Amino acid sequence: MSDKEKAILRTLVCDPVDNLMIEQLNSNGFEVSYEPTIDTKTLKEKVKDFDVLVVRSRTKVTQEVLEKAQRLKIIARAGIGTDNIDVKFAATKNIHIVTAAGSSTQSVSELSVGLAVSLTRKIPSLDRKSKENVWKKDTGTELYGKIAGIIGFGRIGYATAKVLNAMGLNVIAYDIYQNHNLIEQVGGSYVSLKELLEKSDIIFVQATLTDGSSKLISKNELELIKHGAYIVNTSRSEFIDGPALLHALKDGRVSGYAADVIWNEPPEDEWENEIISMDNVIITPHIGAQTVEAQQRVAQFTVENLIKKMEEIGL
Ligand code: NAD
Repeated sequence: MSDKEKAILRTLVCDPVDNLMIEQLNSNGFEVSYEPTIDTKTLKEKVKDFDVLVVRSRTKVTQEVLEKAQRLKIIARAGIGTDNIDVKFAATKNIHIVTAAGSSTQSVSELSVGLAVSLTRKIPSLDRKSKENVWKKDTGTELYGKIAGIIGFGRIGYATAKVLNAMGLNVIAYDIYQNHNLIEQVGGSYVSLKELLEKSDIIFVQATLTDGSSKLISKNELELIKHGAYIVNTSRSEFIDGPALLHALKDGRVSGYAADVIWNEPPEDEWENEIISMDNVIITPHIGAQTVEAQQRVAQFTVENLIKKMEEIGL
């Protein structure tokens, strides 16, 4: 199809995105409405007018939203996970989904390592005390020579493992798919989830959330964890049973928890706020991909994949 014949696709961008994304959409002929703070009620009213939705993780594209989407053809997730989209229902309406897979690998893996060091050296709590004029040492632990257990050895898991390996940690991983070539590159090996929990000094949760994979780490699994281990979660909070984690943090089985994700974003439940308030817990507000470089890559990958999909389905 020539450029002249191409349909003008009405596109609703529902979450805050880098300017580059809007520029790239405009320059590729999309007719863009930018509503970065749109709420569910308004989205339900407006969605019927659009061919393309662009969302990050804030906007929930539920069955209720999709039922009103009369002309929607593609949902572009400007990021990685699609757990905020009812993918199954979208498929029944022949609505296609594209993502920006790989765009934030470097940023999220750097954050993961940063959270690990911050947690084991207690950097945030010591910094808070310094600011309160309390000049007092607190002892941490080294990561060198320790066992890092990676749950979900995909792009981010592998990128994190490369850094951890260079820092002198021994890597083990649990994944439902195994890529032996990749794990050998970081001198690691695949193990069962049980073995990973029992052996790791620090656990990194980096898997993709799918139907049925939530609460991978519940009360029973937390009881298997090596006493005093740390957990870093940059993937999704749903992998961990929150109240059970609170209990494990209180009784010392888990020495500390650092996460870029929380069960309700923003937090709502009392137990959730109690976890956040603990001194041995670090929480960042889902900033894994919030770097200049990742946001530019997200914009570029999303628009490229959107155009590829349009060509594929003949739009
Ligand atoms: P990826 O697809 O490359 O890797 C995910 C890995 O998880 C795959 O190897 C897959 O086999 C594995 N997996 C899936 N279900 C599993 C299960 N039940 N148990 C064990 N392993 C399982 O994805 P990626 O690019 O590495 O991203 C991983 C996740 O990181 C994303 O799905 C997203 O949730 C999260 N993420 C977070 C941020 C952030 O801002 N914090 C940014 C990007 C991605």
